[in-house]
Amino acid sequence: MSGAGIGSMSRRELLMMIGAAAGSSVAYRAMASLDMVPESDYKGPIKLEGDPKGASVLILGAGLAGLVAALELRKAGYKVQVLEYNQRVGGRNWTLRGGDSYTELGGFEQKCEFDPGLYLNPGPWRLPYHHNAILDYCKRLGVVLEPFNQVNYNAYLHSSKAFGGKPQRYRHIQADFNGGVAELLAKSTKQKKMDQLVTKEDREILLESLKGWGALENDYTYRMGLESSGRRGYDHDPNGGTIGKPVPSKPISIDEILKSGLWRYLVHGHIYEFQTTLFQPVGGMDMISKAFAREVGDAVRFNCKVTAIKQDGHKVTATYVDAKTGGAPTQVSADWCLCTIPASVLSQIDLDVSAPMHDAINALPYEASIKVGLQAKRRFWEQDESIYGGVTFTDLPNNMIGYPNTGYFGSGKGVLLGAYTFGPNAYEFTALSPQERVKKAIEFGAQIHPQYKDEIENGIAVGWHRVPWILGCAGAWTEEKRKQHYDNICRIDGRVLLAGEHVSYIPAWQEGAITSSLNAISRLHQRVVNG
Ligand SMILES: Cc1cc2nc3c(=O)[nH]c(=O)nc-3n(C[C@H](O)[C@H](O)[C@H](O)COP(=O)(O)OP(=O)(O)OC[C@H]3O[C@@H](n4cnc5c(N)ncnc54)[C@H](O)[C@@H]3O)c2cc1C
Repeated sequence: MSGAGIGSMSRRELLMMIGAAAGSSVAYRAMASLDMVPESDYKGPIKLEGDPKGASVLILGAGLAGLVAALELRKAGYKVQVLEYNQRVGGRNWTLRGGDSYTELGGFEQKCEFDPGLYLNPGPWRLPYHHNAILDYCKRLGVVLEPFNQVNYNAYLHSSKAFGGKPQRYRHIQADFNGGVAELLAKSTKQKKMDQLVTKEDREILLESLKGWGALENDYTYRMGLESSGRRGYDHDPNGGTIGKPVPSKPISIDEILKSGLWRYLVHGHIYEFQTTLFQPVGGMDMISKAFAREVGDAVRFNCKVTAIKQDGHKVTATYVDAKTGGAPTQVSADWCLCTIPASVLSQIDLDVSAPMHDAINALPYEASIKVGLQAKRRFWEQDESIYGGVTFTDLPNNMIGYPNTGYFGSGKGVLLGAYTFGPNAYEFTALSPQERVKKAIEFGAQIHPQYKDEIENGIAVGWHRVPWILGCAGAWTEEKRKQHYDNICRIDGRVLLAGEHVSYIPAWQEGAITSSLNAISRLHQRVVNG
């Protein structure tokens, strides 16, 4: 997607707006998309043709980048071994269910108390329709997908400083913002104030389009009536029989909407990655890594904390210790090494590569982020407020509430995403104990859903900057850093090369991890077969 020509709004202004609405990571991802950035150009299963003649590859890290490499390299005839810090595969592709426990940096241990069948995806939770590689692996490995609802017109937009703190339905803000802007533009057009910008013929077309887009009346005003209620909803919905007559609802004035700041959130669903249709695996995001484990789990050595990576002209040797108990270092060697350990951790490992690659690894910062999952005794957001999936946005520090996109109309319990936030808010959450983080998320959420106080019964909080094997949410490239370091982080450095979301133009997405891995192993394979 090209960044050029977004009306008169500069690229920077658009990014600032996205940042304000959706947090810095989304702004960053949008930035990536606005730059010439190749979205995934995945065209189908990789073909590694030619005989690797028994060459061996040591893969470090069993996140999606490592798993994809293990699967494809083994298929192509390589001897493959994977060293993984955790006791499971998947890395950030992770799902928490009742009975799971998790210990963060500093020692806080949390036990997930969700009821059977309920889960939280503390990391990835949605798959855009154009992330072709991950969707293809899901298809090939039999991972069943269901729709993920990003924009829900009946969820809320909330500002603690506007409308007396009362949450507003998304559809009201959306319809009234469009209607208000359309009316203003129509007025300017009719008053010939746009004449320098549009031709006479286009003026009529513009007026017609504003009428349709903004639900304007025949006189080009946006006001209470059946037109506007056809977008924002009615005070009394159309119905059957004697009580069927609809009662229109009263729009909020454009002035109030502009002052409320809630318009900021409307951009979210227009961002390429969040456009309909998105998907999620049925049963939790880790259904994907579990599917990979069925194929290549036997190649993974678990609980291995890599502490050093050395190379000479013939081989690469990794040193690791038991991730839980430490103990004596063990060494393992191979002809080549594909390292998918996040740069945030890799920068602290004794790594034998060139200075430019070291500089690239050290230059890449990682973002802070936290997600809090909350178990409710009943699905009150559905039962009381007709909210089925999607997201509510708020200016409170919990930033958003995500409603489960599955199990609709269930009469049992449900798990909400009670907070998903970045930057300073994330640090403030993790300055608290996990129990206090959950309490805070309840306190904030109760300002939108008062039912929280009676209905939420437990929760779990994952602050990514405190996850020992990643120390952040995702690599946060800036344009400048990319110019300086990206080529160096991609190079084959002696016998070592890197892969992972941080070695891609789709950072913070699983598609980036997979496509970077496919690209890395293609280049490695060329080197191996061509000598
Ligand atoms: C909060 C959050 C939300 C996200 N949302 C989405 C989303 O909705 N959709 C989406 O597609 N993506 C999303 N992502 C991004 C996605 O999770 C990542 O891009 C992707 O999973 C990264 O895969 P990877 O293989 O590059 O790295 P990882 O999954 O991090 O794998 C790296 C592996 O290296 C291991 N490791 C680390 N240190 C060592 C060591 N010393 N020795 C041995 N092994 C080690 C780790 O344990 C891990 O298994 C999200 C991420 C986060 C954190």
